[in-house]
Amino acid sequence: MDFSGKVALVTGASRGIGRAVARQFAQHGARVAIHYHQNRTAAEETRASLAGDEHRIYQADIADPDAVRRLVDAVAAEMGGLDILINNAGIYTEHPIASVGYEEWQAQWSAILATNLVGAANLCYCAAQHMIRRGGGRIVNVSSRGAFRGEPTAPAYGASKAGMNAMGQSLALTLAPHGISVVTVAPGWVETDMARETLDSPAGDAIRNQSPLKRVATPEDVAAVVVFYASGEAFFSTGAVVDVNGASYLRT
Ligand code: NAD
Repeated sequence: MDFSGKVALVTGASRGIGRAVARQFAQHGARVAIHYHQNRTAAEETRASLAGDEHRIYQADIADPDAVRRLVDAVAAEMGGLDILINNAGIYTEHPIASVGYEEWQAQWSAILATNLVGAANLCYCAAQHMIRRGGGRIVNVSSRGAFRGEPTAPAYGASKAGMNAMGQSLALTLAPHGISVVTVAPGWVETDMARETLDSPAGDAIRNQSPLKRVATPEDVAAVVVFYASGEAFFSTGAVVDVNGASYLRT
């Protein structure tokens, strides 16, 4: 894979899967727009760890539609276009139906859908405007196994990722004539800050044992798949929802 001359915007790239994706894009020659939300220092650390020196850092709250438009337009203007969008940023918070209050329930559904689903949709919209004008592009959305397997204590998270899967399929159909592929990558558990507390808890071993490989994914496991599906070689897989879960949940 050769991403020389390509500009890739990776959301949530200050840590976790996003940082690993940014690193792998840079290794393959892309210039990376490193998006972060609140931790500028961590975004700087990501940039310092990338091969090459033409990467730039951008801040935005992806739950804010105006901020999303400013982000995408700034990347395209300052980096000479936008070839690849990786919708990686997301939040996971728990809101078990039997124990949270109604106000809390509503607040969590609003926040999670605004970030994980509507935020990603707005990024797709804004990026697609540039990609359509340029005659092509690649979008990879980072979803979750939870969309299929269920999220008993985080139903809004599961729903947001199921929505993301469906959105990716619809956009793959409508964007294909413009030379734009849309692929969704659905990891199981991944060793990142988002999952650390649970993976370090007494429940951690049972989670690792969900896979016959007896471990969860590393951020690099997921990043390798994301980067492949952003490549020209993978274009004909547009519309796919790809599992990266170590055979912890099999579906046909
Ligand atoms: P993480 O918490 O380390 O990273 C998530 C990133 O999203 C952070 O950098 C955060 O700043 C950013 N973000 C959150 N809300 C934002 C907002 N409103 N505006 C801008 N940025 C925002 O977690 P991760 O594990 O690296 O997760 C990356 C993606 O992978 C997420 O979409 C997550 O749902 C998905 N995923 C993670 C796991 C897992 O077990 N870690 C499993 C399946 C899917």
